[in-house]
Amino acid sequence: MTRVGVLALQGDFREHLHILESLGVGAVAVKKPEQLGEVDALVIPGGESTTIGKMATRFGLIEPLRQSIESGLPTYGTCAGMILLAGAVTDGDQPLLGALDVVVRRNAFGRQNESFEADLDIDGLDEPFHAVFIRAPWVEKVGSEIEVLAEVDDHPVMVRQDNILATSFHPELTGDGRIHDMLIEMV
Ligand code: GLN
Repeated sequence: MTRVGVLALQGDFREHLHILESLGVGAVAVKKPEQLGEVDALVIPGGESTTIGKMATRFGLIEPLRQSIESGLPTYGTCAGMILLAGAVTDGDQPLLGALDVVVRRNAFGRQNESFEADLDIDGLDEPFHAVFIRAPWVEKVGSEIEVLAEVDDHPVMVRQDNILATSFHPELTGDGRIHDMLIEMV
């Protein structure tokens, strides 16, 4: 059985575990570096990217995560997870994995649009995806290897680079498993 790990330090990792279970794969809460060797793919959930980054640093997970992703582990980051995967953020200084060649802007949609929902056209999906954005980032700058799969107001909100998929929004909250399926297909 395919085993998909969910980084379970902070944030909404339980919702990812549930949706993965509903898709018929083994879902594993990952808290320790040695667990990375036991999964076929990884989800980095939404939450607070500074907190997840600090905890990953404290638990000695930053280097092992970088190495696993670099060596091809299919990895999907949602929202704070997208931020953690990025090469840089537009403001501030926080621990990042630097695996995805993008610069992200945190809380990019501003106060009035802190949370919103939108039906998105996504490359590779036949029907629009109902996307929930919560204090979401957008991708401010993309490197040459980045494929943009969806945008809101001309800002990329879903990207792929080799074995890495990232969304600004939260597909674990709506019960639509199509994006998690994309990850599973990357195994
Ligand atoms: N605003 C959060 C951050 O900057 C991300 C929000 C989320 O994951 N829903 O880390």
